[in-house]
Amino acid sequence: MKGICVLGSTGSIGVSTLDVAGRHPDQYRVIALTANNNVDRLFEQCQRFSPLYAVMIDERPAAELRRRLADADVKTEVLSGAKALEDVSVLPEVDSVMAAIVGAAGLLPTLAAAKAGKTVLLANKEALVMSGPLFMSAVTESGADLLPIDSEHNAIFQCMPANYHAGHRAAEVRRILLTASGGPFLRKGLHELHNVTPDEAVAHPNWVMGRKISVDSATMMNMGL
Ligand code: NDP
Repeated sequence: MKGICVLGSTGSIGVSTLDVAGRHPDQYRVIALTANNNVDRLFEQCQRFSPLYAVMIDERPAAELRRRLADADVKTEVLSGAKALEDVSVLPEVDSVMAAIVGAAGLLPTLAAAKAGKTVLLANKEALVMSGPLFMSAVTESGADLLPIDSEHNAIFQCMPANYHAGHRAAEVRRILLTASGGPFLRKGLHELHNVTPDEAVAHPNWVMGRKISVDSATMMNMGL
């Protein structure tokens, strides 16, 4: 059994992660789940997976979750505050941490997991973009395993030869080309982009993802990250 902590369990990646964990209850034990303020979804997830801990960022939704779990006789302990994200990422019961909080808020708990030598399943590539060498030296020093979840990163990871740690030149990789679907604005001219709406930007033709990555995808910023 692997103990997992899902940072950002109420988001698109978090829900997919729990879908996989739920299909393999003999392999995964859910130790901790975290959200920003989505009480309803975190409550449902706690009822289903009975994690040891659930974290919400603000105390008010945390108090509501605590009350609803007590009414439903679910024993999960509810914590609040950003520091609690780091605390649950380094629990001894946790083997793997799914880093699926969106944006900068994901950095500190993901870094804590890396420093604690956990298997870090990295969806939140923003953490790596923000803290590159610091993050990678934490991984090396602690002996953590870092596995890319984001599709482009994972595809590159699977294509690289075994000695890729030596750098891509040594591994005889000349260059890496990334392709993109083009997103919802593939056939729009530059002049038309001034008038697009957020709802049009998140209407990705191929993927259902969180709003930030959908916008990043529409603007190609996602490829930059
Ligand atoms: P979502 O917006 O769907 O989910 C974000 C999660 O983070 C939610 O659980 C949300 O909680 C939580 N969260 C938001 N803000 C905070 C905060 N300030 N503190 C703590 N928790 C917070 O995002 P995605 O699942 O789409 O993306 C997650 C990460 O994965 C991103 O880094 C993205 O780039 C990456 N990724 C996503 C892909 C996808 O297919 N969705 C593909 C590849 C990478 P709440 O629900 O309560 O708001």
